[in-house]
Amino acid sequence: MENCIFCKIANGEIPAATLYEDEDFRVILDLGPASKGHALILPKSHAANIYELSDELAAKAMILAKKMAVKMTEALKCDGFNIVQNNGETAGQTVFHFHMHLIPRYTGDGVGLTWTPGTLTDEIKEEILTKMNA
Ligand code: AMP
Ligand code: ZN
Repeated sequence: MENCIFCKIANGEIPAATLYEDEDFRVILDLGPASKGHALILPKSHAANIYELSDELAAKAMILAKKMAVKMTEALKCDGFNIVQNNGETAGQTVFHFHMHLIPRYTGDGVGLTWTPGTLTDEIKEEILTKMNA
């Protein structure tokens, strides 16, 4: 995709701090990290979001996320790990080339990835189950 910054980074046209690379993906350090070691898994082929991503790349991305989480946890000695993936502006996506955030967590780091829990009412539960099973 022309003019997609993550296509250019993933394919080596723009340099980036690379933690891992194979024929399908490049893993780079995020330039605006939430925590020390915050990295991004970028597929080399363009898909704007999870809806456009092939099943094959989706499966490979999850396996890679697991491998990176293990390696990064060992190397960085973090205390926990978040894997985050945003789709659409409403969900916080700002770069429209699929990516997975790998966010090492350190006790007391104050990284805000939490929300206030609501309540699952019987009415809403039934509505969702009906829609999902239609
Ligand atoms: P999202 O909000 O899920 O679309 O995440 C986009 C992420 O890309 C943010 O965490 C940015 O800090 C990061 N980012 C944007 N441009 C670059 C870049 N050129 N190199 C590395 N990370 C970037
Ligand atoms: Zn792209």
